Amino acid sequence: MDEFEIIRRYFVRQGRDDSVLTGIGDDGAVLLPAAGRALVSVVDTMIEGVHWPPALPPRDVGYRAVAVNVSDIAAMGGTPRWMTLALTLAVADEAWLSEFSAGLFEAAAEFGVSLVGGDTTQGGQAVVSVQVTGDVDPEHVLERTGAAAGDGIYVTGTPGDAAGGLALLTHPRSDSADSRYLIGRFSRPCIRVAFATALAKFASAAIDLSDGLMADTGKLLDASGAGGSIDAARVPLSGELRRAFGDPQALQFALTGGDDYELCFTAPPRGATDIFALAARLGIRVTRIGVVEEAVGLRCVREGRELQIADPGYVHFR
Ligand code: ADP
Ligand code: MG
Repeated sequence: MDEFEIIRRYFVRQGRDDSVLTGIGDDGAVLLPAAGRALVSVVDTMIEGVHWPPALPPRDVGYRAVAVNVSDIAAMGGTPRWMTLALTLAVADEAWLSEFSAGLFEAAAEFGVSLVGGDTTQGGQAVVSVQVTGDVDPEHVLERTGAAAGDGIYVTGTPGDAAGGLALLTHPRSDSADSRYLIGRFSRPCIRVAFATALAKFASAAIDLSDGLMADTGKLLDASGAGGSIDAARVPLSGELRRAFGDPQALQFALTGGDDYELCFTAPPRGATDIFALAARLGIRVTRIGVVEEAVGLRCVREGRELQIADPGYVHFR
């Protein structure tokens, strides 16, 4: 099976998307943006053994490759529209490709993204790079830079679950409902697109959680030229994570574990009512976990004392 056979069999799908004037099969994709919308462009590369463990089923690899990019689009307040896929594989394994593309198209359908092109190559190791273009109301872009002293710091969902799930994937235990739930939180992250686009009216800044709550909130505050504190007692921990790992480890995962793809955002106090109403309407858990302060640097405090955090988050080349 050569590269063109792979593309034809696994990645060309008949779809109706009027915004795709030219899709897979030509030198480039030609896309028609909606009038008055700005474009948002993101890319994320995932390497086997670095970003996903070999134990992760290929269907989930395909799903996640799309979902993590959609998460970046959502964190900008945008709506995902089109994607390209650069795929490097050591071997053309038909069972792997079939599952991978099923997961990829499952996410594409869920998030309303059309696959419009890509690149297929052979190399030493599986590398999946997905690029997504979305659109956004230019008046309501959710940047990292708008947090101001006095704003609340909020998080969606229950951070730490994905890190727990990854630990269970790489060091399996006996099967249980908790462990299945946590693994699912790694392999199928919940991307809050509708919430994020509506949030753009109320929030002052936002970031999605890929590297860890402390690390990513720190990036948001740095970008805003501010600092802040997170109250450890307010960080929402799932019952599944607490039962599987105990409270101290659950909190460590929540503060420093990556791969949650939940949203961390800041908003002035007057926005709080609207934010909780929006979250309730969409059935999303939102928790106010801290406050933005003037002095730079992010602290995590518990009962008034600052927690020392050993490893704040994942960094390449460190
Ligand atoms: P080119 O040589 O012009 O870069 P290719 O021969 O590499 O084009 O690819 C042929 C067509 O298939 C192009 O339209 C390209 O965008 C698309 N394509 C290649 N690989 C993939 C893939 N993995 N998924 C979707 N489309 C792909
Ligand atoms: Mg070409």
